[in-house]
Amino acid sequence: MKGKVAGMEYVFCDTGAELRETYAYLDRLEKYLGEPIVRLNSGKPFEYWLDVNSGYLPSPRARWCTKVMKIVPFENYVGDDIVHSYIGIRADENREGYVSTKTSIIPKYPFKEDGIRKADVMRILEKSGLGIPEYYQWRSRSGCYFCFFQQKNEWVGLLENHPDLFERSKKFEKVEPSQGKYFTWVAGRTLDHIEENKESIKEKAEAARAAKLARAKPSTLFELFGTAPVEVDDDPGDGCVVCHV
Ligand code: SF4
Repeated sequence: MKGKVAGMEYVFCDTGAELRETYAYLDRLEKYLGEPIVRLNSGKPFEYWLDVNSGYLPSPRARWCTKVMKIVPFENYVGDDIVHSYIGIRADENREGYVSTKTSIIPKYPFKEDGIRKADVMRILEKSGLGIPEYYQWRSRSGCYFCFFQQKNEWVGLLENHPDLFERSKKFEKVEPSQGKYFTWVAGRTLDHIEENKESIKEKAEAARAAKLARAKPSTLFELFGTAPVEVDDDPGDGCVVCHV
């Protein structure tokens, strides 16, 4: 295969818990780029790392998952080479993303530097023929199926699109008040609760989406009718850019 950008190497850190839609998009991306995407992993499944962390589920405040399943495999792969790491944070986002403590890994922010915003990214993907990932029909980011950065409505999306993965996510939760254990993916809520309340969660998300679109004054039909989901008000955070395609 002949690549589109000379000297560029593409790497994906696979936790083993990614969505099938993500793998499908990586395959499409490989074809488009004309280069293989190197798949890295930590050599151990999530269950192993959960045990190492005494059953404490990762959360926005304790993101051990990103470190052991994404950052360490990437840094090991890079070794001591001097590399430029291209980070896909857009000009309309106010965050830094993963910046390695290794001085040999130099962060680059091409979208920020060129003033590329969300609607521009959507246009680029549409124009290139690559399109947007299938998971955008129900989720605003890639990442692990159980990612705690999901909004409640995205958990409902997981339930409806991948009921087996929703059930698997439930099994990681531990609620044992007598032992002071309340390990859940969503702060203060179990996935059983999300399932029981799925219709009201969907209604609330739809109302928030409509209100946000009304405020957004879209300038193109794609922005108005594009399928990328609008983030709504129970968003638990910015997610981690190293995790998301
Ligand atoms: S996608 Fe979410 S759960 Fe997976 S490693 Fe990243 S932050 Fe952790």
